[in-house]
Amino acid sequence: MVKAFGLLSGGLDSILAAKILIDQGIEVVGVSFKTPFFDSIKGEKAAEMLGIKLKVVDITEPHIKMLKNPRYGYGSNLNPCIDCHALMLRSAGKLMEKEGGDFLFTGEVLGQRPMSQTRSGLNAVEKISGYKGKILRPLSALKLKETWMEKEKLVDRTKLYGFTGRSRKPQIELAKKLGILEYPGSAGGCLLTDPRFSERLKDLISHRKDFKPRDLELLKIGRHLRISDNFKLVVGRNKIENEKIMLLIQNDDRWFKVENYPGPIGLVPYGKEMTDLYLAASICVRYSDANSNKEVSVITETIDKEERIKVVACSPKITEDLII
Ligand code: SF4
Repeated sequence: MVKAFGLLSGGLDSILAAKILIDQGIEVVGVSFKTPFFDSIKGEKAAEMLGIKLKVVDITEPHIKMLKNPRYGYGSNLNPCIDCHALMLRSAGKLMEKEGGDFLFTGEVLGQRPMSQTRSGLNAVEKISGYKGKILRPLSALKLKETWMEKEKLVDRTKLYGFTGRSRKPQIELAKKLGILEYPGSAGGCLLTDPRFSERLKDLISHRKDFKPRDLELLKIGRHLRISDNFKLVVGRNKIENEKIMLLIQNDDRWFKVENYPGPIGLVPYGKEMTDLYLAASICVRYSDANSNKEVSVITETIDKEERIKVVACSPKITEDLII
């Protein structure tokens, strides 16, 4: 039996690509990926709906490495889609080699996205994935060069499609025809396409080259303020965020809490040795219930020391200027 491994994000295009091959009697294995920027939940649901096997691969480490210097650059935010797709295909290809399979496939549609799904983008993905000629795009195959899988009749080319462009209409019609009634909307899913998250990530990359997954988790919560070249302050916006911040504290961090008033946890990652504590403390006062011109006590802690300093709230203009 012919066996194909396909990228299964769980979006409609990946579901359709898998379904087209399943309907040709091909054994399909879905592959979904996890990083701090996206998860495999939609892929898991799609695999269940399609009744296929799913492999979930955590590619956090190579993804972070690639993200710092993608060969084909970024999209309109910090999304390195060409390199990201290539990395996923490389990873799915290794699985295919290990477990036995004939080819790879994706739900990519020619011309659907400005960067990664142009003809040159699809070629680049193929080239740097290391699986040139072994990647089928069932939704756009008729507009692309015939692959060896088609020539060798592992796949029936007459039952593939020639979709191009940004319109979702052909895919929605095909979904109806193939009996796929439930699928997620096309929006969202990857934090790297989120402008706000991308700004924070840019700031992180430019100030801390050796950032870790913990630093990425912090980008998802609180307000972030750049208080100096070496340090930033992450301020919880509510009880849940304060608790999440506390759980992410490391031994080389410093954190702040306004004494005697409800207020945020302010975390300075890697700030254990920082000496100028006033600005961070005054920002925490500004976001606390003690926000006034009165001097209040702020507790600042490291793993082995607790101090108290007296400060007044900084002005709103200062926080506005420092916010990332
Ligand atoms: S949108 Fe995100 S997950 Fe998708 S290819 Fe681009 S970077 Fe990768």
